[in-house]
Amino acid sequence: MTRHMVKPLRFLTRDVLLQEIPGHVSLSYLITGCPLGCKGCHSADSWDARRGESLDITTLQRHLEHSQSYVTCVLFMGGEWQPEALLDLLRVCKTRQLATALYSGLDECPMQFIPYLDFIKLGPWITELGGLASPSSNQRLYDLQQGLCLNPLFWPTPLPAEPITTADLLRLGLKPPDLACHTAD
Ligand code: SF4
Repeated sequence: MTRHMVKPLRFLTRDVLLQEIPGHVSLSYLITGCPLGCKGCHSADSWDARRGESLDITTLQRHLEHSQSYVTCVLFMGGEWQPEALLDLLRVCKTRQLATALYSGLDECPMQFIPYLDFIKLGPWITELGGLASPSSNQRLYDLQQGLCLNPLFWPTPLPAEPITTADLLRLGLKPPDLACHTAD
């Protein structure tokens, strides 16, 4: 049986980033079409899903051929609103044994992505609370392999990463045995 055509995601920018995912050199895509409309969004020029270049499996493979000697992680900034297309790309990364990361403005992680992700950032942009560098941020960056919240690494006075809490697990849609980690409350 043939699989129906999956409409590919599109990206506005492609960068190699050193700090967004601690310990990794990330090939990062800013995906167009985010429907969340956060007030104060720094990437409002990416909201229009018609903008940018197509990022199908072949294109991603081509980019990785050129960068896999130094890239250790692929970071998708958005794309969860086209789950099938994003899953196809995540599978390509995993086949190549690369770490994977998703920056999502959602408050909770769509479950189907968890098996294919090593890192996920959750939470919309709220200007008054700030991003990862702000200890009061609503956004949280999780290392799903190690069961850690990485936010403290980004603070002005960095602290060690924290074990994820029971509240984090609920947000991730997980139960404790689903992660090879310990939790703290
Ligand atoms: S989730 Fe991110 S890209 Fe989407 S509107 Fe909010 S800040 Fe902008």
